[in-house]
Amino acid sequence: MIEFIDETSCTACGKCVEICPTDVFDLASASAIIAHKEDCTSCMNCELYCPHDAIYVSPLKDPEVGLDRSAIIASGVMGSYRKALHWADGRGPSGTGDNWALQLRERQGERPPPPSDKIRTQLYSVRDRNLIG
Ligand code: SF4
Ligand code: SF4
Repeated sequence: MIEFIDETSCTACGKCVEICPTDVFDLASASAIIAHKEDCTSCMNCELYCPHDAIYVSPLKDPEVGLDRSAIIASGVMGSYRKALHWADGRGPSGTGDNWALQLRERQGERPPPPSDKIRTQLYSVRDRNLIG
């Protein structure tokens, strides 16, 4: 569940407001604010899209009790999900994205099909592409 926005990093760019599928955020003059925490589905999109790593979404379903915000920021965990999935500047990586199975197969030498193979190229770009042989 979304836990906090680090207002010192937030630039009020509005990306999280735009991207959140359940409209959890509102935009105030200086930063985004969490207006509807209870509507968060922990989809993590806001962490991926925030260009300043200002958002912390807890891995827990329910609000964290006694959450130490300063310790979380100091730990360097802010933005770690985005970095792990190779996102930058609000954009996902070209190619395999967050499909870990496909990333592994590419590291093992597999390459995308040629552009002329339109059906396989299309399938290659979807998440569960590892379902095809
Ligand atoms: S984790 Fe998903 S649902 Fe929750 S605030 Fe972020 S974008 Fe919205
Ligand atoms: S995406 Fe990040 S920087 Fe932009 S308004 Fe939301 S929290 Fe602030």
